[in-house]
Amino acid sequence: MKGKWEEFPEGNGNPDCKKCRGRGVVPIPKKERPDHAVGEQVQACVCTFVQATLINMEQGWRGLSKGQSAEESPLRGRECENLWVTASAPDLKAHVRHVAARMGPNWPFKLLTDADLMDAWLSKDLDVYDADVSLIRQMDASKFDSLMSASEYPDLMILKLGVKAARNSAMPEVLLEVLYRRLHLEKATWIVDNYAYPLSAEHISYDGLVGEVLSDWPHILIEQERQEAALEEDPFFDPDEDEAQGVTQSTLNTDAELDLIEKERKKK
Ligand SMILES: [Zn+2]
Repeated sequence: MKGKWEEFPEGNGNPDCKKCRGRGVVPIPKKERPDHAVGEQVQACVCTFVQATLINMEQGWRGLSKGQSAEESPLRGRECENLWVTASAPDLKAHVRHVAARMGPNWPFKLLTDADLMDAWLSKDLDVYDADVSLIRQMDASKFDSLMSASEYPDLMILKLGVKAARNSAMPEVLLEVLYRRLHLEKATWIVDNYAYPLSAEHISYDGLVGEVLSDWPHILIEQERQEAALEEDPFFDPDEDEAQGVTQSTLNTDAELDLIEKERKKK
């Protein structure tokens, strides 16, 4: 005979989750329910939180949820600050992933590149030719109605420079417009350059005014080494204990998940 549990259709949970078996919700224990509650009371299963966090990562930065994560990051806790970050491309990704895993499913962040900004800017005037933008449009990457909409969304913009290769004399101006706009809106920006192509006089996005804006932003240099968040080295991971956790091994593949499991353990 089927228990009450199995009668529910498959929901939005992880099908491998032993807590909810894919239903996405779990019953609230009797002692935690209000006295007058009638019928089954449920709450979201931890696996849905994990999945929503991974989806949020992808919305902010495509491919981020599948990347490696840094074990720790100087960027953590500075999500609301304007920062100038110097990091290699893989390091940047690993560190942003570390932060995003801990910010949960509702964190509005977005990775944009200098080439995206130029695309947004040029969308006001389609007659202007720019080699990089032309390439982006051919690849049908994300487009914006205007530079303003690109500037206003989201809470944290991670602006990666050095993707744009072709020189366009308007680039510093476009960057400034975005920075001024975001400063006005009091929204945080992490402007990111890399060791091979630092943001200085020779950079296609740099001019004196850009330098002036950045002069009082903290400059964070991420060391050029990638810390591997190896699953087997994680102190919280023990497949034998899984039964008690109700999370199967196949779900233990991201640090968002490990984080959440850690939180669950602390609750107990
Ligand atoms: Zn679940």
